[in-house]
Amino acid sequence: MSSRKRVVILGSTGSIGESALKVARDLSDRMEVVGLAAGRSAAALLKQAQEFKPRAVALYDTTELASIRGQLPSGTACHGGAEGLIELATLAEADMVLVSIVGTAGLAPALAAIRANKELAVASKEILVMAGEEVTREAAAHHVPILPVDSEHNAIFQCLVGEPSRHVRRLILTASGGPFRQTPAADLAKVTPAQALKHPTWNMGRKITIDSATLFNKGLEMIEARWLFGVPMEQVDVVVHPQSIVHSLVEFVDGSQLAQLSHSDMCFPIQYAVTYPDRLPNCLKPLDLAQVGSLHFEAPDPVRFPALRLAREAGMKGGTLPAVMNAANEIAVPAFLDGKILFPAIWETVEAVMRRHTNVEHPTLDQIIQADAWARAAAGDEVMGRTIECP
Ligand code: NDP
Repeated sequence: MSSRKRVVILGSTGSIGESALKVARDLSDRMEVVGLAAGRSAAALLKQAQEFKPRAVALYDTTELASIRGQLPSGTACHGGAEGLIELATLAEADMVLVSIVGTAGLAPALAAIRANKELAVASKEILVMAGEEVTREAAAHHVPILPVDSEHNAIFQCLVGEPSRHVRRLILTASGGPFRQTPAADLAKVTPAQALKHPTWNMGRKITIDSATLFNKGLEMIEARWLFGVPMEQVDVVVHPQSIVHSLVEFVDGSQLAQLSHSDMCFPIQYAVTYPDRLPNCLKPLDLAQVGSLHFEAPDPVRFPALRLAREAGMKGGTLPAVMNAANEIAVPAFLDGKILFPAIWETVEAVMRRHTNVEHPTLDQIIQADAWARAAAGDEVMGRTIECP
């Protein structure tokens, strides 16, 4: 197979979106960008459209639409709002839809893409955390593959090629440990947003960077892995690996472990998702293990990082609880970034909202969306109760 894959990128102006465009530039004979969508970055979207000349673009924030409409290349259609994202997700000319929208706005377009029989490349972990049961069921019903872009899940996907599920004992996600891996528990209340935004190994969007500091990112990934690979939560483990060179591992029933290694650059997993099952040479820097020297691994600390315990609980109980955990975290993170709450108040808020929630098992999409909205309101109250007093 060597035809060009026609790809729509939802969230093209973000960190993942920009990396996907780098891959498209590098592999222009294998990847064609046919659609681009963003939230409100009209100027950046316009610049991308002028370079890639896609069939269509969409901007969620319709107030900015008018400013770009007249400047798009001829032949590029322009859509707006939530419906605009659905237009792009179901674009007739697309083979694959890459969902890299931060937050929950990617869920409806992801389901629309599956129902339109598009291959789905998923970076937005919120989709599988909120609605893993529904999304994987729909993908199976439409015989649509879900290709993981998150580096950990992409690594596991690579290790599982040719392996039946009966061979698998454990999926082991690696976590960098974030900037506070060695910070004593008592000092976590003193960390500032600027310190939390300094990720030791990855350059990512603000939300995921804070999630990496609390380890909620790893918690979301545990739930994502459970759905992507159809394993119980008990079989998903985490090991801290500060260098971010080993992107994750699979342990098989015979005790062997396979891992995938590369430099920490999202272009690697994005390319694999786009060209799978092919592997192609590219301009990315290969790994020189002798230069890396040593790789370190340690167990995560459940006391300083309660996010892993909360995520395991949410993943094991299932129902609406994972969506509630995710939504509460989405409210707590900006509250911390805005200086309203202390760093530990992020997980305290999430835990308090989870304790208040009445779980709904095997929820419909409507019930998930209701639980998400309830959790946002409940988290807003919890944040108010934890707001730092100004001296
Ligand atoms: P960024 O914050 O860098 O980018 C987010 C993107 O989503 C932007 O293009 C933004 O557009 C767009 N967006 C936000 N809201 C909407 C909306 N309502 N409709 C349409 N587009 C919207 O995030 P990242 O790229 O870091 O992360 C994206 C997703 O990928 C997240 O779910 C994250 O967890 C996941 N991920 C990220 C990794 C990384 O390395 N960055 C690694 C693995 C997973 P605008 O610019 O206009 O606001």
